[in-house]
Amino acid sequence: MSKNKLDEKSLEFETSNSIKVINSFEDLNLRDELLRGIYNYGFEKPSAIQQRAILPITKGRDVIAQSQSGTGKTATFSMGVLQNIDSKQRETQALVLSPTRELASQTQKVILALGDFMNIQAHACIGGKKISDDIRKLEQGVHVVSGTPGRVFDMIKRKSLRVSNIKMLVLDESDEMLAQGFKEQIYHIYRYLPPGTQVVLVSATLPAEVLELTQKFMTDPVRILVKRDEITLEGIKQFFIAVEKEDWKFETLCDLYETLTITQAVIFCNTRRKANWLTDKMREANFTVACMHGKMPQKERDEIMDEFRSGKSRVLITTDVWARGIDVQQVSLVINYDLPTNRENYIHRIGRGGRYGRKGVAINFVTEADVGILRDIEQYYATSIDEMPAEVSELV
Ligand code: ADP
Repeated sequence: MSKNKLDEKSLEFETSNSIKVINSFEDLNLRDELLRGIYNYGFEKPSAIQQRAILPITKGRDVIAQSQSGTGKTATFSMGVLQNIDSKQRETQALVLSPTRELASQTQKVILALGDFMNIQAHACIGGKKISDDIRKLEQGVHVVSGTPGRVFDMIKRKSLRVSNIKMLVLDESDEMLAQGFKEQIYHIYRYLPPGTQVVLVSATLPAEVLELTQKFMTDPVRILVKRDEITLEGIKQFFIAVEKEDWKFETLCDLYETLTITQAVIFCNTRRKANWLTDKMREANFTVACMHGKMPQKERDEIMDEFRSGKSRVLITTDVWARGIDVQQVSLVINYDLPTNRENYIHRIGRGGRYGRKGVAINFVTEADVGILRDIEQYYATSIDEMPAEVSELV
């Protein structure tokens, strides 16, 4: 499809008119036990996306909810899910699908925490864990499943995950879930769900071609969309360092190490091999770094996540497995050691810092060959990425 055609199409996807804005959790007509869970979790007031999207979700509408990284989308659909669950009926009623195991289990934990007073069971159904544990847990009956597509589909085929009571499907990071690689699997799962299952799509990025695809499986969805030039957050300052050659990136990173450890930092490489290589090289030079990517055994991935979440490790070298959804509030610095290979993941990567209105800094290492890519990102999101100032550590 030509670019113009897509641009024309995107005009059809304006935010739905007359979206109600509800400024307090009390006015959302949530059940008391849920409200208690929300306040107990420390939330006082709904964020902009929560003010708009929770109500239509709880009313059973199909919803497309877009908002910037770290603005409370996970909590939005989690509250929607919890409001619509019948806790007395111990059957799976809501299915949340995410692109990575870490995100699926993070979401399961948020649902459990917000639903702490509701007596509900939520299970993370993800690859890399024992199949027999999944089967046992699902057979006992869980209200919510938060999983990754491969394992969830496996459980459906085995009939361990019974679908007949599912009322709601959430696709978190929905543009990623509907992109090549996942799309087929999502359709396979979708076909098993009861007709009329409510569909909720959530992401910070929703390119026009994804919005177009939604017409195939959503019914008159409520659309809450963000214009492309409003996707980057003011609280996240974006910089570049001109490193000229690939070979110079390493020393540049070493020079930044002290800044990295002021709070916590995530460093993105484009391949697992590169992440391993950089980790080894940093360690050889006596810097303390952690490394995580998708080829590691799940047990190791879990340990590394736990250490990073607890603040025991402060600098994490990783790949796009970490680009989406992971919420560690202490992260204030993101480094693109390699520039991402797609525009969407640029937004998601830099959004690992500056969670929920906190300050964040993103630094892009740019070789001469990369200059065009960076300018493209800048233009596409109508944002400015300036040369890194000397006093960057003051911004973290
Ligand atoms: P997103 O999914 O949009 O990237 P998350 O749902 O992960 O964002 O939320 C980002 C952070 O903000 C989380 O740490 C979450 O606990 C916090 N948060 C979400 N909603 C609220 C709220 N209403 N009040 C305070 N903190 C919130």
